[in-house]
Amino acid sequence: MGEISGLERVNHIPPIDLRRQYEPISEQVGKAVLEVLNSGRYIGGAKVAELERQFATYVGVSECVACHSGTDALYLALRALEIGEGDEVITTPFTFAAPTEAIVMAGATPVFVDIDAASFNLDVNQLEAAITSKTKAILPVYLFGQPLDMTRVMVIAQTYHLWVIEDCAQAIGAQWAGQSVGSLGHVGCFSFFPTKNLGACGDGGAVTTNDPATAATVRMLANHGQSDRYFYEATGINSRLDALQAAILLVKFPYLDFWNQQRRAVARRYQQLLQPLSGIKLPQEPAAGVGVWNQYTIQVITNSPSPASYRERVRSRLQQMGISSMIYYPLPLHLQPVYQHLGYQCGQLPVVEQVANEVLSLPMFPDLSMEEQEQVVYGLKDCLDRVGD
Ligand SMILES: *Cc1c(COP(=O)(O)O)cnc(C)c1O
Repeated sequence: MGEISGLERVNHIPPIDLRRQYEPISEQVGKAVLEVLNSGRYIGGAKVAELERQFATYVGVSECVACHSGTDALYLALRALEIGEGDEVITTPFTFAAPTEAIVMAGATPVFVDIDAASFNLDVNQLEAAITSKTKAILPVYLFGQPLDMTRVMVIAQTYHLWVIEDCAQAIGAQWAGQSVGSLGHVGCFSFFPTKNLGACGDGGAVTTNDPATAATVRMLANHGQSDRYFYEATGINSRLDALQAAILLVKFPYLDFWNQQRRAVARRYQQLLQPLSGIKLPQEPAAGVGVWNQYTIQVITNSPSPASYRERVRSRLQQMGISSMIYYPLPLHLQPVYQHLGYQCGQLPVVEQVANEVLSLPMFPDLSMEEQEQVVYGLKDCLDRVGD
């Protein structure tokens, strides 16, 4: 690290660089795209069926239904399990909006449980206290690609007769107790948004399950609720996967495990390089889990009365040095303007409210080089040393 003599020399380091992943496979992707263009079959078809088959095998389930996005996957799963008006779904306040959005779109009520500061995931210890006579499902999110204790979640779900819908959008390939996420609950929901660990060149998603009837209902709802052509059994939506996206995903799929290993190596290097720094807390991987590091998120710790503005000063200094960082997520969902009617107060979920002011996601993608990581760490150390309270 002593080699870097002037901060001006630091090259720009993006939070994520999708082109680096695309370039070495561009020829294969181009061929696959042309094949679809020449086929005349643009929605559904053989490529989509093949992707569903491979995906089910990868996750370790019998059924996979591809759809238009991860958000749709969540919505379709809730609808297929007949969760709607009058039902409560327990979920995490610390994530992207989609899972909560899907619960509301299905007509149900989200119930937020505080998070565990070590994993950023829903605190399993607080699950039972949130269960009421209206609770129908638990919807955990594997945030940043980290699994949570699904053994305990499933025991609680069985005790109270609840469905478990896993939001695996950030966690494809992650495992808990030797099993892949998406096979641990009743239904798994995946996203192929370009920044996910297996990303399409556009939107895409998938639902996994071991129950053929649930899969059939998801497929029916995703195709306008048609049981047969132009015969409608339910009010469905238009949520199918484009053949082009399926073809691209089939090219990328064989590389997924390698890319996830690269992410794990990047995370390990961060762990080693950042260990000596004070003023930050590093993310932990749960002992029985294998994470896939969609994000590498640290906590910036300060005594400052305004931790969020302290973090902002660190972040903008990093940016000046050409190092991009992100804040996932700055405001927990229970405090978002759109969910005020749910009646949550500031201070009600103290852990997530504090953590949201501290998190900082560092550049993370499979091909992030050692030199770049050293620059990030060197830059972060410099910022932490200089940014006074
Ligand atoms: C990205 C994401 C989604 C939604 O996926 P889309 O394909 O963008 O609709 C859902 N949940 C989480 C946790 C996500 O990160």
